[in-house]
Amino acid sequence: MAKLTFFGAIEGVTGSMYLLRAGDSRLLLDCGLFQGRRAEEEANHKPLPFDASKVDAMVLSHAHLDHSGRIPLLLGEGFSGPIYMTRPTSDLIEVLLKDAASLQERDAEWENRRRRRSGKEEIEPLYRLEDVEEALTYCQGVPYRKRINIAEGVDVRFADAGHILGSAIVEIFITESGQEKKLVFSGDLGNSQAALLRDPDIIESADILLLESTYGDRDHRTMEETLAEFEDVIEEATRNGGNILIPSFAVGRTQEIIFRLGELYQKGKLKHQAIYLDSPMAIAVTEIYHRYQDMYNEEDRDTIETFAKRTASKKRSLHAFLPTLRYSCTTEESMALNKLASGAIIIAGSGMCNGGRIRHHLKHNLWRKQSHVVFVGFQAMGTPGRALVDGDKTFKIGGDTIAVTASIHTLGGFSAHASQSQLLDWLSHFKVNKPRLFLVHGEADAKRALKEATDKNGWNATIPTLGQSVDF
Ligand code: ZN
Repeated sequence: MAKLTFFGAIEGVTGSMYLLRAGDSRLLLDCGLFQGRRAEEEANHKPLPFDASKVDAMVLSHAHLDHSGRIPLLLGEGFSGPIYMTRPTSDLIEVLLKDAASLQERDAEWENRRRRRSGKEEIEPLYRLEDVEEALTYCQGVPYRKRINIAEGVDVRFADAGHILGSAIVEIFITESGQEKKLVFSGDLGNSQAALLRDPDIIESADILLLESTYGDRDHRTMEETLAEFEDVIEEATRNGGNILIPSFAVGRTQEIIFRLGELYQKGKLKHQAIYLDSPMAIAVTEIYHRYQDMYNEEDRDTIETFAKRTASKKRSLHAFLPTLRYSCTTEESMALNKLASGAIIIAGSGMCNGGRIRHHLKHNLWRKQSHVVFVGFQAMGTPGRALVDGDKTFKIGGDTIAVTASIHTLGGFSAHASQSQLLDWLSHFKVNKPRLFLVHGEADAKRALKEATDKNGWNATIPTLGQSVDF
């Protein structure tokens, strides 16, 4: 009998973590950070709910921090086994974990300055850069679709989840007393409308299935509508000479936006703007995407390569596809963009405007009537991005209050997650013997709606509780 315990991404969408026991082997599936409100993030400081030194191996579905961000803590608690993931994921987590460590070191330093002044005891950051360096030595990138033995009686195979570069659906094969059982973890399943990535691989069999349910209660706007809106904004900005700011997440969304801008450029609709990618992290990630171009879907890869060939440019293909793309790496280069009053499209983080370089671009552009801010991702309650989307007329930065007269746009179709219909479609391929279905990685409403929808199709989905175990 194998046992699976649900330790994270159960009461929300962050902190993804599941422990599998099969015979004498113990395996951890994901080791993500809790992200969001302060109270939720407090959970990251608690000891892990199992003995890490007894875990034989870890398997990581993809690089996002809500799936990978507690890996350095796992090592801190005595884990010393291999961590398996796809090759692009092993490149991406280096960028993401290092960025997470420097943010944590910086936050702890801020807090400690305050504490020193009030005579309080100092705190330690959750982890440091050197912890990340050590963790990375345990990471092993393996190919997609290759079955690999990772512990006694346990094999793993990564299928493409189409969510971000390197993202995987994890298939785990467990052999106990000559019998094989299969656990499938969907990871985060991609939106099949998204650019660059492939559609999620079809899986046809499993005994037990963990399915994400981020958008279990809704469908996305169509990509056609979304792209038409995007084109309208760019046309308007061309007419009135304003800048366009795009607050964006570094992994996935940024590269999709670059591709979409490339399509517009090639159609001759982007003649007047220079495009600045103003985020060292997004630049590093874009370079990794570039390295793994052969993993893009065929159509988009052909589009990029065809244009690159046509221009006979010596530039690498993404830059030949969108020749007006500029990287802005240093702080000085970023500050120089403040002087541009028109003709610039600036992509910068953070995606919800609660930090990063986008904030100083907002300061220099929000008060200008001809500026446009285009939101391409989800804006959580309480973030400055959400306030702008909700129509706030002022924006606070440092001691300054900026009047918002720029146009604010929200484009709904760029989600990196499968919609309810796409989830149901993916499930429909499990033909023989439906697996036991567990809904994870979703808010309560999304999971409830997805349970209702799947049950109508003959499933009997379980919504697990935190710490619950199932035998199979
Ligand atoms: Zn993700």
